Amino acid sequence: MPSPDSQETPVLVVGAGPAGLAAAIELARHDVPSLLVERRPELSSHPRATVLSLRSMELVRAWGLEADMRARSADVDWHMLEAETLADAAAGSPLTVGYPNPEQSRMLSPTAPACIAQDDVEPLLLEHLRASPHARVELGTQLTGLFADPDGVRADLRDAGTGAVRTVHARYVVAADGARSAVRSALGIRMIGPDRLMEGMTTLFHAPLWDVAGEHRHPIYSITHPEVPSVLIPTGPSDRWLFGGFDDAARDEARTIELIRLAAGVPDLPVRLGRSRWFSAGAQLAERWSLAGVFLAGDAAHRVTPRGGTGLNLALHDGYDLGWKLAWVMRGWAPPALLDSYETERRPVVEYTAARSADPGGSIRPVETEVSVDIGARIAHAWEGGRSTLDLLEPGLTLFTAREESGSLSATAGLAGHAARRPAARSRHGPCDRGGRGLGPPCQIGRHAGRTVAGRLQPGPRAVCRGMIARLLIGPLAFYAGGYRIWLLRAARTAHAEATVYDRTTMPLSSGVVPASRKRAVGASL
Ligand SMILES: Cc1cc2nc3c(=O)[nH]c(=O)nc-3n(C[C@H](O)[C@H](O)[C@H](O)COP(=O)(O)OP(=O)(O)OC[C@H]3O[C@@H](n4cnc5c(N)ncnc54)[C@H](O)[C@@H]3O)c2cc1C
Repeated sequence: MPSPDSQETPVLVVGAGPAGLAAAIELARHDVPSLLVERRPELSSHPRATVLSLRSMELVRAWGLEADMRARSADVDWHMLEAETLADAAAGSPLTVGYPNPEQSRMLSPTAPACIAQDDVEPLLLEHLRASPHARVELGTQLTGLFADPDGVRADLRDAGTGAVRTVHARYVVAADGARSAVRSALGIRMIGPDRLMEGMTTLFHAPLWDVAGEHRHPIYSITHPEVPSVLIPTGPSDRWLFGGFDDAARDEARTIELIRLAAGVPDLPVRLGRSRWFSAGAQLAERWSLAGVFLAGDAAHRVTPRGGTGLNLALHDGYDLGWKLAWVMRGWAPPALLDSYETERRPVVEYTAARSADPGGSIRPVETEVSVDIGARIAHAWEGGRSTLDLLEPGLTLFTAREESGSLSATAGLAGHAARRPAARSRHGPCDRGGRGLGPPCQIGRHAGRTVAGRLQPGPRAVCRGMIARLLIGPLAFYAGGYRIWLLRAARTAHAEATVYDRTTMPLSSGVVPASRKRAVGASL
């Protein structure tokens, strides 16, 4: 039992990097309170990562932050340019590094990757989180102790300013405390995989390098000059750049400026140096990602080298996945066993990505492979009435239908077919929540022209969507949670339809009392 003077929070999130911020944002989006603690009084001002992937931009779009991120990103051609110096960019070779170009992005998604620095991304996420009434954020607060108890976890938090320690009791903890995760060590969880695969220095500097690059604007330049094999990386549209070299850590400022000028191919380039950071990267996964109500996320669960530019994106995706699943459990919409799917579903993606990052040739990869790893099995994008299928996804379930006669499960056909039928229910609230009884996850029904009919599914192992199916729908029904299809059945117009809606741990997911002749798991994805 929590001690009477300890503070209560459903979820404690440790670390305000991309993983912790994404987890707390998803919890808040589902109206689940959380406390996020970050030991630093301010977020890191080192850019570190400089690319938000296609899937990451989809997530920030869902959070309403796409335009803000885009405004801070540089417009680039999504190849790495290999050239002897930046001034020789016109003679350089564009290499495919797995990012989709604008045409490819347009086919796959309502958005596109962004060339934006991590220290521009994090403040936007933090500001967004702070605007939620459900999230409490405490910078300058360090987790110093963690103890399991029968109802969850007790955590000691130390105020960095005063040194005062207090205890918080949480049902669950998200350990997003970075590569040197103290939580992971305290739990005795080992990292498995090669360490020290890549070591080097990144230096932040200001110089007018976009003028040097001219029309050859890329997210990364691989410089092959024999005296300075290195990378030059823009951190956005400004003249703030990163220089990544692999020589020894002891070089002084004068030598660093000399190397940057050599890499740029401009002997008198005005350079203003910022901080340098030494890094040592491995490709490792924690042997397990959870223990006793504590879940590791982001770098705490895995480390990758900078090759492929995936560390930030993996962290963000972990936080999103864990966040919405914790929210479902805390809301009573799914059993705690749902949380097992976090590691089951994220681990293969991370294993693939870590192996790529360990491969000396891992930077150069075809777009098709890397994009499908990035977006995974999320719902296919299709425009309908100015909105993407992804824009129709809300916290809770989203239901898409396809016209039975079409025999097609394409999202466009589904939405258009649905609209053509003009379903009978026109109210914003489906019949299931009338009287406020038995509220389960809200169920948004994707519809033409941006109109949405909301309903509720009753909680418990057998969720009932009686009425909604009866009144609204004919044809295959696909339910999505967190952007992934969790349940699909085929129903005809029927007075009563009930089904077990959510249990990812016991696939297949469609079951219940819909007559067998009227339900069918369909292999194609919407
Ligand atoms: C020099 C460098 C270059 C990089 N380049 C790239 C790149 O090009 N592309 C890419 O994708 N990735 C890159 N990365 C990796 C990327 O920055 C990380 O993968 C990403 O930040 C991981 O996010 P995270 O939220 O898991 O952890 P972090 O961003 O490390 O955040 C963890 C947070 O937890 C806080 N914390 C730790 N312990 C406690 C505690 N006890 N109590 C409270 N708070 C705590 C820390 O202060 C920190 O703010 C780079 C990293 C470095 C260091």
